[in-house]
Amino acid sequence: MLKFSHVSTHYGPIQALDDVSLHVEEGEIVSLIGANGAGKTTLLMTLCGEPRASQGDIYLAEQSITHWQTSLIMRSGVAIVPEGRRIFSRLTVEENLYMGAFFATVSEKIELTQQMFDLFPRLKERRGQRAGTMSGGEQQMLAVARALMSQPKLLLLDEPSLGLAPIIIAQIFATIERLRRDGMTIFLVEQNANQALKLADRGYVLENGRIVLEDSGEALLSNPQVQSAYLGG
Ligand code: ATP
Repeated sequence: MLKFSHVSTHYGPIQALDDVSLHVEEGEIVSLIGANGAGKTTLLMTLCGEPRASQGDIYLAEQSITHWQTSLIMRSGVAIVPEGRRIFSRLTVEENLYMGAFFATVSEKIELTQQMFDLFPRLKERRGQRAGTMSGGEQQMLAVARALMSQPKLLLLDEPSLGLAPIIIAQIFATIERLRRDGMTIFLVEQNANQALKLADRGYVLENGRIVLEDSGEALLSNPQVQSAYLGG
């Protein structure tokens, strides 16, 4: 479904991604782990078209999207839950959801919102509340639901567990697993290596903009290099 082939990305003279190749197949959860500043967000943003890859190619369903506008990439079935959630804090839960369904008609928006309320009953309870007044975990749920409103084929998640309490993190990861069971393809970027690899079919380790390891989630969890660098053991 998604393929990076020898992709590099620069911010002016700074090289943030260096010859990255990876793939995500339909129905998989693939996790990308790496430390602060490794280039994880840059990788997701390069996929979304901003910044542009300076070398290499990105393919979505076998088609090169390397030079596509971000809006076209989003219309092609990609949705992102950005780092820090970026919900519209002054808008209500329901209004935030509507913002996610940017290509839908009004009746489709209503139908999709109902689907999100079935998936996240907590959001239904809070539908009229300003999003900025909700807890961090609820805001993260809203950010995921807002992304799902565009009915993506590929869901990108940038550090969904960041800054959340362990019990809330467990709920977020349970939600991700449920989405996969429903057939969603998920590319998850996380510093929380333990949780992200437990859930993943396959994983990649990014260091200084380069992919240094690639294996099944299970194999990476028991890899001594991963254990000492990312799992505190
Ligand atoms: P974090 O977990 O802190 O978000 P990350 O793995 O997502 O880290 P990136 O944010 O992709 O890492 O950053 C990768 C490198 O690119 C870092 O060295 C960072 O300083 C640099 N970088 C990121 N954004 C920019 C920018 N807009 N301009 C210049 N350099 C940038």
